[in-house]
Amino acid sequence: MSDCLFCKFVTGEIQPDKVYEDDDLFAFRDINPQAPTHILVIPKRHIATLNELEPGDQALLGKLTLAAQKIAKDEGIDGSGYRLVLNCNSDAGQSVFHIHMHLLGGRGMSWPPG
Ligand code: 5GP
Ligand code: ZN
Repeated sequence: MSDCLFCKFVTGEIQPDKVYEDDDLFAFRDINPQAPTHILVIPKRHIATLNELEPGDQALLGKLTLAAQKIAKDEGIDGSGYRLVLNCNSDAGQSVFHIHMHLLGGRGMSWPPG
């Protein structure tokens, strides 16, 4: 989508602090980190919200989770722990409408989330 910020990261039109890329996925550091490690992992394909996911996206979501697991290891937070978050629409606070998995770690976190 031409007016989507995260699609511009994927094409290279805008270059974020990239930490990972493969054929299907792209990951970069959040510009407003909420933890010492705060990375966003996204599919390269534009999907606006979790509501647009289809049965054919099962493998893509599995890859997204495994990429987050690998990045957590690379960041050295696999042992201490981390949180993966996918926000959908307004009640969850979604602000960028290209799905993204937040990888948060490097500090203790409370539950339930705010
Ligand atoms: P959401 O609230 O939609 O779940 O998360 C969107 C995230 O994108 C936020 O954590 C926000 O800080 C991050 N973000 C928004 N604009 C930019 C940007 O231009 N660059 C980077 N690296 N992250 C961004
Ligand atoms: Zn997009």
